[in-house]
Amino acid sequence: MKLLFLPLLCLLAAVTHAAPANSKPVRALLITGGCCHDYEFQAKSLTEGVKKFGDVTWTVINEGGKSKDARIALYDNPNWAKPYDVVVHNECFADLNDIAYVRKITAAHQAGTPAVVIHCAMHTYRLLQQDDWREFLGVTSRRHDHQATYAVRPVVKDHPVMRGFPEKWVTPMDELYIIEKLWPKARALAVSTSEADGKEYPVIWVNDYHGTRIFGTTYGHGNVTWADPIYLGIVARGLLWAAGR
Ligand SMILES: [Zn+2]
Repeated sequence: MKLLFLPLLCLLAAVTHAAPANSKPVRALLITGGCCHDYEFQAKSLTEGVKKFGDVTWTVINEGGKSKDARIALYDNPNWAKPYDVVVHNECFADLNDIAYVRKITAAHQAGTPAVVIHCAMHTYRLLQQDDWREFLGVTSRRHDHQATYAVRPVVKDHPVMRGFPEKWVTPMDELYIIEKLWPKARALAVSTSEADGKEYPVIWVNDYHGTRIFGTTYGHGNVTWADPIYLGIVARGLLWAAGR
């Protein structure tokens, strides 16, 4: 009798394994809030815009108002990132200088939860002496150039994130972040040129953070950028790539 069941069990196991591993929706967490930007609008644009590119379910945490040093309560839970396939950091708390707090965030990503880092996430926690946050981002930046429309030049075209990216894209009015350092495990995918100093700076990149995928872009200041389909496409592809899709 047992021998008859064995082939059946094998067949069931084969069927289970044949199911595509990525058929479930991506579970994404958006952390947003803080200074200088319309996070309500950005959250709506992101969650709506990504729908066209993949099946993503969203949890949105928008906290801190316009503060520059608010704390997100969720990070106090050591397992805060566990329920998610990817975390989008679009928070802006530049004056919060507390390494123990920041390590609660980076620990979750070091443990394997991928991330997308957008615009002011590069300037949040910028007063910290320690480089933990910058190593996680893949870039060090502390300031930005004036607002302008910036040409974005792809430097890597065969990366999944860059598929479908136009030969030439000019941003709506946005800020060019000055990248002091691209970290060794980070790879720039596109650059823009500063009108102030004539130098090229990475504006779209990927980072390997202790084996965890990180996608980043420094663009995303104003609502005009968040309404641009090219911009939403690059963020969506970055998110799906980071989540392993
Ligand atoms: Zn900004």
